[in-house]
Amino acid sequence: MLPTFDPRDTEAGSRILEDITSNAGHIQEQVLEEILTKNASTDYLKGFLNGHSDKGLFKNKVPVVDYEDIKIYIDRIALDGEPSRILTNESITELLKSSGTSGGKQKWIPKTAEEGERRAFFSCLCDTVLNSFELRSFQGLNDGKALLFVLINPDIHTPGGLVLRTGSESEIKNRKDRYPQFILCEDSNQSLYSQLLCGLVQRDAIVNVGTFFASGLLRIIKFFEEHWQEMSSNIRTGQMSAWITDPNCKRAVSLILSKQMPDLADSIDLICQEKSWEGIIKKIWPRTKYVMAIITGSMAQYIPALEFYTGGLPVVSPVYGSSEAFFGINMKPLCSPYDVSYTFIPNMAYYEFLPIDNHQDPTCTNRKDAHLKDHIVDLANVKIGQHYELLVTTFTGLYRYRMGDIVLVTGFHNSTPQFKFGQRTNVVLSIHTDKTTEQDLQKAVAMAIQILEPLGFFLLDYSSYADTSSIPGHYVLFWELQLRSNDDIPELDQVKMEKCCSLVEQSLDQKYKLLRNQSISTIGPLEIRVVKQGTFNVLMDFYVSQGTSLNQYKTPKNIKSEKAIEILDSRVVGKFYSREVPNQDS
Ligand code: AMP
Repeated sequence: MLPTFDPRDTEAGSRILEDITSNAGHIQEQVLEEILTKNASTDYLKGFLNGHSDKGLFKNKVPVVDYEDIKIYIDRIALDGEPSRILTNESITELLKSSGTSGGKQKWIPKTAEEGERRAFFSCLCDTVLNSFELRSFQGLNDGKALLFVLINPDIHTPGGLVLRTGSESEIKNRKDRYPQFILCEDSNQSLYSQLLCGLVQRDAIVNVGTFFASGLLRIIKFFEEHWQEMSSNIRTGQMSAWITDPNCKRAVSLILSKQMPDLADSIDLICQEKSWEGIIKKIWPRTKYVMAIITGSMAQYIPALEFYTGGLPVVSPVYGSSEAFFGINMKPLCSPYDVSYTFIPNMAYYEFLPIDNHQDPTCTNRKDAHLKDHIVDLANVKIGQHYELLVTTFTGLYRYRMGDIVLVTGFHNSTPQFKFGQRTNVVLSIHTDKTTEQDLQKAVAMAIQILEPLGFFLLDYSSYADTSSIPGHYVLFWELQLRSNDDIPELDQVKMEKCCSLVEQSLDQKYKLLRNQSISTIGPLEIRVVKQGTFNVLMDFYVSQGTSLNQYKTPKNIKSEKAIEILDSRVVGKFYSREVPNQDS
């Protein structure tokens, strides 16, 4: 049973948080016991435990799996309408579309009403942390408003009759009472336009601005760049544009835009007409104390862009969660984005950890090794400084399920470990025997872009694919660059761009360098294709049109879709190749 408390009661919330984080090991054992008692009779667990709910037996017998292993069970429920008890004795009410990080194949994750309660409890704890840090850190937040952007898509039903949504949509649609002021509109253009317009009209009341992921916030800023003149004109005339026809949008905007506001329109024009949009968030919403968006893991690439647009406001990265389960809360919301750790909340699910040698390529962990089980440790036994791959066992039918996320233990809050979000184990680029992970690629790109930073550039977004259309194949990176001055991108210095290509190669691992160095080269020189501005927005729109939610969108780093490559290729403004073979000794 989860403790209950009023989310506005910060003291009660803090007491509960202290209590559960002081008893993490014990609570985890209880959680596993509850899950097994509840679900021992499911088809899935019966196959390994023969109806028993013994924890020791679970640890011995139940295999480590990934989505492909359990897809067959989920498909029986989702497509054939078979009962939930194949996987869980809670009743599955929805399936959550999980993006994972890299826009790979979509996964469908079961959700139940009870799980909704657990997540509500987690959200209350998160509010407790945010409320108490706000109280401590800032004055005047109580009389202000938060501008939190949310987007929803129409519900889809599976052939088996279950609703298919993203995790964020499920949270918003099931708990409308918690978010009475959200504009829920399924047309993302009308929705964003209206949300921004409301935010502009109330610009003096806004004290924080946010959305789910950092990439989403950048998309919103770009949308604002494309529409501010029209919004300002709406404010000047007191009339909303005629293309906003959605009743929810019209109702929400008409409540606050009821008269002509020429002074407000003038001040917005003055700010937006400035050539550089550096610090635009702080300028448009001058009372904003912080920005809220997940900025860790694969989102870390957006830190420089976000710092640019927010004018250096603190970015609060509040939680680590997923469609599968919610995991951790950031107890120090104001810390640097590079230092964020998440304290795992022990009542949400049963967590286990597969150690990863700190020097080992995470992709080397043999995915089907029967002995994997022998290396698993539980939450109470993780070690500071060690990387782990996260496994999760949930009430909703996932057992020892590989999340694909790597986490690093950084410390403890009471007896509960805190984790820095590492990266996904997923390989984004592969030719021959080379396997380049998202983490390796991100580090290499961060290193290379430093060459362009003194010229006033930052990298707005990037992606990649392995081009094997010629022999030898080679890796292609697509870069969208932006100038801090907001000027058009000038002709790029070929020597510097080639240096960027070489530096990316130099920063990749030994295996890559070896394959590049062989007398008959197995991998060809790495290529950077610079794309024109706005390209990654078009890419995002493409994925959204394919069913990805804008709230949870993460730019795919390993582009597989031919259409997506076509979108990028048709906007290339410069192609550059590495001119040096990477040095194997460094
Ligand atoms: P989804 O199921 O589509 O919500 O995606 C969940 C995935 O998003 C996780 O497995 C992580 O890879 C990523 N993610 C979620 N929260 C964070 C976070 N705080 N920092 C970095 N990545 C995150």
